[in-house]
Amino acid sequence: MAVTGVRIGVVGGSIAGCAMAIAAQRAGADVTVHERGDGALQDRGFGIVMPPSLHRELVTGGYLGADMPTAPVDTRVWLTRAPGGRSARELARQRSPVASCNWGLLWRALRARVREEVYHRGMPVESVGRAPSGRALIRTGYGEREYDIVVGADGHRSVTREAVAPGVRPVSSGYLAWRGTIATSALRDHPKTLELLRTAWVTLGFSGGHAVFYLIPGPVPGSRLLAYVVYGFPPRTAGPRDPVPLAYVRDLADEHFPAEWADVVARGEHTARALHPVADFVTPRAAEPPFLLAGDAASVTRPHTASGAVKALRDALCLERTLGAGSSVAEALHRYADERTAEGARLVELGRRLGHGLVERTPDWAVMGPADVEEWSRAALNGADSYLYGGVHRH
Ligand SMILES: Cc1cc2nc3c(=O)[nH]c(=O)nc-3n(C[C@H](O)[C@H](O)[C@H](O)COP(=O)(O)OP(=O)(O)OC[C@H]3O[C@@H](n4cnc5c(N)ncnc54)[C@H](O)[C@@H]3O)c2cc1C
Repeated sequence: MAVTGVRIGVVGGSIAGCAMAIAAQRAGADVTVHERGDGALQDRGFGIVMPPSLHRELVTGGYLGADMPTAPVDTRVWLTRAPGGRSARELARQRSPVASCNWGLLWRALRARVREEVYHRGMPVESVGRAPSGRALIRTGYGEREYDIVVGADGHRSVTREAVAPGVRPVSSGYLAWRGTIATSALRDHPKTLELLRTAWVTLGFSGGHAVFYLIPGPVPGSRLLAYVVYGFPPRTAGPRDPVPLAYVRDLADEHFPAEWADVVARGEHTARALHPVADFVTPRAAEPPFLLAGDAASVTRPHTASGAVKALRDALCLERTLGAGSSVAEALHRYADERTAEGARLVELGRRLGHGLVERTPDWAVMGPADVEEWSRAALNGADSYLYGGVHRH
């Protein structure tokens, strides 16, 4: 299809929005990005992991510069607290290559590939609708503009989704994710832990939750930060509407982690921290011409899959491909919807299964060894693919 002259309006200029804008530019479309936030998007510096193969594809495909730093490791180490003590016990090692990224550096690298004049920040979209001509309409404080395609890359509370699938709402898991990044100086008293993290990412299982730890690139070239996510339920004493404090993660760590890992979280040399309720949803269809959804606007999987940003980036690769291959805008969007709706649903299902095994009904990690972890992983995957479990034989 001749894409030249096709006008694409993107709502949202974060990971999905920038990646979709690059896809549209590469396909030859005329793209405009509307980002609500003013100034540079958050330099939050949280961790984002992705498969190394996707990272390579994005560099080769012109989405990311080869100079964007990653912290690749090949191995996943499973730990738990030794029964009756405070030391760590290694349960298993799996082959699990990941390219760990810093959210802020990833966003900057994508943003650098979006032409300056098409990215409008401080530009909240008030609503998205259909013009009498049948084309899509974006309304902002500056007026209305028609587009051949409107891409909703406006996150889990997407206004664009209301035009495609009104009423889709997140389904709560009932548990929470504490997420943070810490200067590696917090590991100064634990050199062996730092050594381990230079070659592996760590899953720490406990009763009623788990934590993941991994190194990501820091803001100074060559530097590293320690990223973690801890999953668990709110305190039993908290009412359903009571706010859960960020600091409760220390209590969880104290109660369940081996001493050195609890110490790292408790130290509080955080460069970023946040608390997220864990929820998910999927839209019945990721595109309905002339609207298309990408990233968290289309579906949100529980973070155990480490695949929200991965999906957003693959959404963009899919858009570039389908725009190039379709004979019309509508056909390209239908092809996109067929492929990406199924992937969103698959990841939501996978996230629920992993959440079940890693938080809602945790096994007795203390008695498990490598073969049990392999068996547990295979049961949790139930035949599905996950790059985090790359070394697990599915049958
Ligand atoms: C604890 C945790 C760990 C995670 N770990 C990983 C991981 O390891 N790997 C991975 O792939 N994913 C991970 N994810 C998921 C990943 O962070 C998200 O899926 C991804 O960042 C979503 O990007 P997005 O661009 O779709 O949405 P967002 O980042 O939410 O961006 C939406 C953008 O739209 C803008 N916007 C919203 N409304 C409007 C409007 N009306 N007008 C204009 N602009 C608007 C917002 O300002 C924002 O910039 C994790 C998530 C969590 C919670």
